[in-house]
Amino acid sequence: MEFEHVLVVGAGQMGGGIAQVVAAASCRVSLHDAAPGATDKALETIRRSAAKLAGKGGPDPDEVLSRVEPVDDLVPADLMVEAVVEDSSVKEDIFRRADTTLPSEAVLASNTSSIPIGSLAAATGRPEKVIGMHFFNPVPVLKLVEVIRGEETSDETARSVVAFAEELGKVPAQANDFPGFVSNRILMPFINEAVWALHTGVAEPEAIDTIAKLGFAHPMGPLALADLIGLDTCVAIMEVLHDGLDDDKYAPCPLLREHVEAGRLGRKSGQGFYSYS
Ligand code: NAD
Repeated sequence: MEFEHVLVVGAGQMGGGIAQVVAAASCRVSLHDAAPGATDKALETIRRSAAKLAGKGGPDPDEVLSRVEPVDDLVPADLMVEAVVEDSSVKEDIFRRADTTLPSEAVLASNTSSIPIGSLAAATGRPEKVIGMHFFNPVPVLKLVEVIRGEETSDETARSVVAFAEELGKVPAQANDFPGFVSNRILMPFINEAVWALHTGVAEPEAIDTIAKLGFAHPMGPLALADLIGLDTCVAIMEVLHDGLDDDKYAPCPLLREHVEAGRLGRKSGQGFYSYS
């Protein structure tokens, strides 16, 4: 395997999941988060998730956990996968710092949902080694990795990241560097429209989600999915689409903003369109 030691930055729901699948593929993982207690919480989630997957033929949870080491700062590694909040200035700062910490041959990847890979690449002196590696939630379960090539990403970087995604047991699909790439260009306007349907009184949340589940054969409705993704992340992605594509059809629904401003972020805060006690 080309990437034997992976630095995962951000230990929230995505970073923890990414650390888990990378460790399950026998790589060493260094896991960093700026918030106190975040890596402990991630290790606990990994322990529970790996135990569940072990019952379905997955690797020994103790072995998976033994490969994940919490670290206080960025450390040298073969590959960085950044999974911090969906905020371009926070991500650019991580890429700037990673460029000075990781060896010059290391690849710097972002799990961003929507932020242009080119803007992250511009924060480094190695734009040919910067790429999007967009996992899906929950990471240990969903197979897709959207691989996004920036304008300057080299063929070699794209090839090595596609091969690594396959080694993790994932299915890579390649996209070019447009706001929201493919997945969120399609998904977020769908979620936003469901929020508009709620906001304008077309139907109650349960009815909206039932219609999507039974009518479109979606495994979960758009409002429940928004709660899973995080309403703060949904607003951040809609803003990138709105600004980047310069079209008001992508403006986040005011109800989505209202929830976020009130701290109702979905599952992670215990309350979103639904309550999670
Ligand atoms: P989250 O809120 O669960 O976790 C984000 C983590 O980043 C937090 O633990 C926070 O403490 C940490 N963080 C913030 N600033 C930091 C810094 N400067 N240094 C180190 N750590 C820092 O968010 P998430 O849902 O895991 O999303 C993370 C990224 O993954 C975002 O870019 C998001 O768009 C993307 N993503 C999310 C989903 C989803 O379904 N939630 C799916 C695909 C991609």
